[in-house]
Amino acid sequence: MTTNPVAPELPDTQALQRLDAAHYLHPFTDHKALAEKGARVVVRGDGIYLWDSEGRKMLDGMSGLWCVNVGYGRNSITQAVAKQMDTLPFYNSFFNTTNIPAVQLAAKLSSLAPPGFSHVFYAGSGSEANDTNVRMVRRYWDLMGQPGRQVVISRQNAYHGSTMAGASLGGMSGMHVQGGLPIPGIVHIEQPSYTAHGEGMTPEEFGIVAASWLEERIKELGPDKVAAFIGEPIQGAGGVIIPPSTYWPEIRRICDKYDVLLIADEVITGFGRLGSWFASEAFGMRPDLITFAKGVTSGYVPMGGVLVSDRIAQVLVAGGDFNHGFTYSGHPVACAAAMENIRIIEEEGLVERVAHDTGPYLKQRFASLAAHPLVGSAESHGFVAGLDLVRRKAARVHHQARFDPTLAVGMICRGHMFENGMIMRAVGDRMIIAPPLIMTHAQIDEMMQKIRYCLDLTLDDLTRRGWLG
Ligand code: PMP
Repeated sequence: MTTNPVAPELPDTQALQRLDAAHYLHPFTDHKALAEKGARVVVRGDGIYLWDSEGRKMLDGMSGLWCVNVGYGRNSITQAVAKQMDTLPFYNSFFNTTNIPAVQLAAKLSSLAPPGFSHVFYAGSGSEANDTNVRMVRRYWDLMGQPGRQVVISRQNAYHGSTMAGASLGGMSGMHVQGGLPIPGIVHIEQPSYTAHGEGMTPEEFGIVAASWLEERIKELGPDKVAAFIGEPIQGAGGVIIPPSTYWPEIRRICDKYDVLLIADEVITGFGRLGSWFASEAFGMRPDLITFAKGVTSGYVPMGGVLVSDRIAQVLVAGGDFNHGFTYSGHPVACAAAMENIRIIEEEGLVERVAHDTGPYLKQRFASLAAHPLVGSAESHGFVAGLDLVRRKAARVHHQARFDPTLAVGMICRGHMFENGMIMRAVGDRMIIAPPLIMTHAQIDEMMQKIRYCLDLTLDDLTRRGWLG
């Protein structure tokens, strides 16, 4: 391979892109389009920034994929991982064995979790953790003498992973049509999106109505058939959908009424992203199971798992074998990475900073984007934020004119962001960010300046195309 003209130690970008197109099937990717353009080769990260193989610097507004909470280049995690690899790179936890980092992390996680979560089940990813949830709630109801409780209710437009159960729990129609999903025993209700469904109501009224869809479905299925309800406190990949404050307490009330278990998928919202270790507590969910992944290691090493409430753990422990687990459940290297990552979050007070300092600052700055001619509404919670691109603004969100989805305006906006060193994701015409939790006020200002500049470029672009108004 020839050398890269920007950085001689790197291979030539085009040669890498050809190899990539020839051999590497990427996740969620249109490969024909990718091969024509060539993949961007990301080579280095430091703090909140990334660099590509052409030497371009990018501000990572997405924390990798909602995960690099402590930012890039944390040498102490590298050291912790290297030390663990030297000592014990792997051993399983199957046959009455355990390892020191797995034990230490389990104890640490249960100390950070809401009260009443003394146990952890480890997996290798968020998807595996959600598969674990499905198996665990069914096992729980078997042991409780109610084997008829098999169905898990989820929501449209939810994202819970890409394994068979994970993709089935998710409510992404594009995933369901490829491969005959959902698998049996998983059904969906509508998401609590005020913009999509809340016309004529206050957000608080809408929260109660959206929760009532769960009660309707439980009654339709028969409560003795329903094992659990699963939801992300804030829907992430679905477009940062922030539910009204009344929604989760009402969902909990309904779950209690019908004795349905509640699973909080905190793969994105955990580990400080919303200004708490776990958002479900602040949102009034009082879940029975909590899915985690991503921020537990800040993505430095793959890991996922489930925090198990005492209600469920006691039944599982008394019930003998639970025939489920993974080779990499409790992987010592991943657990060592998680321990150091959590130590950093604690030492730097990142959870408190997001709650009381940088989160409120981002909220105020991000909300000001709503004044932009292209932006219908802009909202955030902690360190996730989303804005709607609209064709014509109006005071009430339900009266704004949307773009024809086939125009893919969000992707055009994302293109301008990328070209100008700002990583912001598009979900339809909603633009979203989930930046690293280490951001300072000055870095938030820098990010906002980039976003505003690229929104202006998008506005000019769409005006030239005659798509506005
Ligand atoms: N649950 C949620 C809420 C997620 O956002 C994701 C990933 N984006 C997953 C589960 C799946 O995690 P993984 O990709 O690690 O399997």
